[in-house]
Parts: sequence; structure tokens; C-alpha cells
Amino acid sequence: MFTCINQSCGTQWEPSDVVIKDEGQGPLFRCALCGARNYVKRIETKDGTVVYKQIEGKPLN
Ligand SMILES: [Zn+2]
Repeated sequence: MFTCINQSCGTQWEPSDVVIKDEGQGPLFRCALCGARNYVKRIETKDGTVVYKQIEGKPLN
């Protein structure tokens, strides 16, 4: 479950409800209600499954 980073929005999204894309600063999804950029981290598990974990703010690099 992701939570929109925009505090006045705060909508919760299932990972299957959002479209994750990379606009050059790392993977993110746009909140469908307020348009806020929510950055996520791509994690590949040992069995090759890709999962995304929400991070606060922007990626450092
Ligand atoms: Zn939002």
C-alpha cells in the first residue's frame, strides 16, 4: 500500500492501482487525484520478483 506524499491528499493506493514510471530521477508514480510525484524504490527479490517500496521525498542521487 502506498500513501500519497501530499499531506492534504494522503490517498492510499494499492500498487496495482498506480503506474510506476521513471522521469529521470528514479521510479515514481503520480497520484491520480492530486498529481503529486511519489517516489518509490525498485527492489528485486531473490526469486526475481520486482516490488516497489515507497520512499520519502526524492532519491538522493
Ligand atoms: Zn495525492
